[in-house]
Amino acid sequence: MSATAPLVEVRDLRKHFPVRRGLFGTGSGQVHAVDGISFAVAPGETLGLVGESGCGKSTAGRALLRLVQPSEGEIRFRGHDITRLNEPAMLPYRRSMQMIQQDPYASLNPRMTAGEIVEEPLVIHRMGSRVERQERVVQLFERVGLRPEQRHAYPHEFSGGQRQRIGIARALALSPALIVCDEPVSALDVSIQAQIINLLTDLQEELGLSYLFVAHDLAVIEHISHRVAVMYLGRIVELTDRTSLFETPLHPYTEALLSAVPIARVSARGRKRVVLSGDVPSPVNRPSGCHFHTRCPYAHARCRLEEPALRAVRDGHLVACHLHDAGPALPLARPH
Ligand code: SF4
Repeated sequence: MSATAPLVEVRDLRKHFPVRRGLFGTGSGQVHAVDGISFAVAPGETLGLVGESGCGKSTAGRALLRLVQPSEGEIRFRGHDITRLNEPAMLPYRRSMQMIQQDPYASLNPRMTAGEIVEEPLVIHRMGSRVERQERVVQLFERVGLRPEQRHAYPHEFSGGQRQRIGIARALALSPALIVCDEPVSALDVSIQAQIINLLTDLQEELGLSYLFVAHDLAVIEHISHRVAVMYLGRIVELTDRTSLFETPLHPYTEALLSAVPIARVSARGRKRVVLSGDVPSPVNRPSGCHFHTRCPYAHARCRLEEPALRAVRDGHLVACHLHDAGPALPLARPH
């Protein structure tokens, strides 16, 4: 564990949504989209957040940015508790925490030029004169690999990869420290994915950015992440550095995710073949005990009754599984 102070820390974060149930919608319940997750991201670090669709990873990213209000828990940015700040008090933090969205087709306003889209955060935050903002837009276009004259074109005139470059330029406009990347390449062709991942990596090195990188694709996660957290039904089930996760995964769910990826796409060695049975259970009616017990090939009686805590099995390698119960339960996973 290094002495580096985390840029952002999340403690026991929960986000529950009310749902109506029953034929006439008269019953009520709650979706535990994010159910008590803790992690930290260091300056210049990428934490990958991976899991199947509906596991809560995107909600976790949005709650971290306060785009949805957490139900419980705490978010600290540079040591300051920002969990319950009102919008005026959040404004300076919003400059430092940005987002790149999944779908570059849907996330850009079709009625604005690419230049206006990139300039808009500067206008909202009243940064610089009009001339200074134009200079910044030109600089950002060049930095993300677009030609400055392309700022006069509209989103439909760009390819998918170019639109994601516009989204990245917009996210960079206010010189943030943290960017939540929500499935930023999943809508793109594989060859374009590599270009965008390389751009994000170069920008991180140049600008010292931290990323929370949300994705379902383990090959993408392996390429960009320093550490990886695996989520299942709202909880983190394994959190460790990239090498440990891909070479010595400990949680049966991680093993199953890895065994589903073609061997050429990830560098997992000596992995076991674990085939998942059944679908992901409904987040409204989650299985008791370990939520994974309905699909886990190693499930035993205790798994149905008792929820496993996230524990440090080795230095920096946390896992929530009764097969690895030796270590102390840790409330917070700190960055390395
Ligand atoms: Fe499988 Fe039990 Fe471990 Fe859950 S706690 S992952 S059901 S062995």
